[in-house]
Amino acid sequence: MSSSLIGRAWLWVSEKPKIEHLVSQGRLTRRVVDRFIAGRDLEDAVKVIKDLNGRGIGGILDYLGEGVNDPPGAEAAYDAYLAAIKRISETGIDTTVSLKLTQLGLEFDKGACIDHLRKLAAEAEAMGARLEIDIEQSRYVDDTLEVFRLMHADHPTLRLALQSYLRRTPADLETMSDLRPRIRLVKGAYSEPVDIAFYKRSEIDAQYRFLTDWLFENGTDPAIATHDGVLIDHARKLASKQPSGNKSFEIQMLYGIRRDLQEELARTGYRMRVYVPYGSAWYPYLMRRIAERPANLRFFLRALLRN
Ligand SMILES: Cc1cc2nc3c(=O)[nH]c(=O)nc-3n(C[C@H](O)[C@H](O)[C@H](O)COP(=O)(O)OP(=O)(O)OC[C@H]3O[C@@H](n4cnc5c(N)ncnc54)[C@H](O)[C@@H]3O)c2cc1C
Repeated sequence: MSSSLIGRAWLWVSEKPKIEHLVSQGRLTRRVVDRFIAGRDLEDAVKVIKDLNGRGIGGILDYLGEGVNDPPGAEAAYDAYLAAIKRISETGIDTTVSLKLTQLGLEFDKGACIDHLRKLAAEAEAMGARLEIDIEQSRYVDDTLEVFRLMHADHPTLRLALQSYLRRTPADLETMSDLRPRIRLVKGAYSEPVDIAFYKRSEIDAQYRFLTDWLFENGTDPAIATHDGVLIDHARKLASKQPSGNKSFEIQMLYGIRRDLQEELARTGYRMRVYVPYGSAWYPYLMRRIAERPANLRFFLRALLRN
């Protein structure tokens, strides 16, 4: 079986509630969780970001959680994000905040989700912080684009993530060209059907390059969010032709992945940000990180067997 098929199979298995129960209830070794998650509390993430800032790297705070299906859950996520925004202002750390619309209730009450987001964006602006919106499974993409457009008029600094594995993404970007949008470009982390998403690496990467070109031409301050050195080099070449050179784009990576490259890029004058997840709802995030690499899967299964 190819590694991408193993990854897809793993993502499918990991979405089964029984497996979540087994893993979350088991004494999963801390090392596996700690590698990718900053900790359970906001203060754990603040500490990690202070350390990153000390090395010339910005943060992206992410309160873990997704697929919230009741109003109290969405309220709790809203409160957690409000607390994060306030803490940024108190500590002066250099970080943005990234959230998922399904955390704020998109699945069951789009209006309430938009209200939460509007209040968070206003609060963030008042405190000098910036928000980013993660992109989730393909079934949420239409609503997410609609919410982004709605918010853009009042909050043009809002950044939206888009996925190069989705066949539709070039068309989605074209419909946003009037906004000159601020986009975080990612490959895509979910298990999607093949009529919706590419899953050959060569196709995902080719579309990533195409979309990078589009963003340098038509977007604002593109964020190239990948650990793939070849794709980062592609963006670096485009940046070298821009008047602001290295500073014309941002590179983003995940906590726990390619720390060597993160530091090297920051040292050589690139704007680098690291996505720092915290909270107790770590299971789906961790499963996606494990599915991305067969070596992680072997490490994880060994850790489970030892428990
Ligand atoms: C800042 C940021 C935000 C993101 N936000 C979203 C989002 O909103 N929605 C979404 O669908 N996806 C998001 N992702 C995840 C993204 O879609 C990919 O799943 C993830 O980045 C892995 O792909 P890659 O681009 O690094 O390329 P890959 O080709 O998967 O990896 C390139 C190299 O990076 C290293 N690497 C990659 N992943 C791992 C890992 N898990 N463990 C160890 N090494 C690894 C390996 O050296 C690998 O060879 C985000 C990623 C980043 C960096």
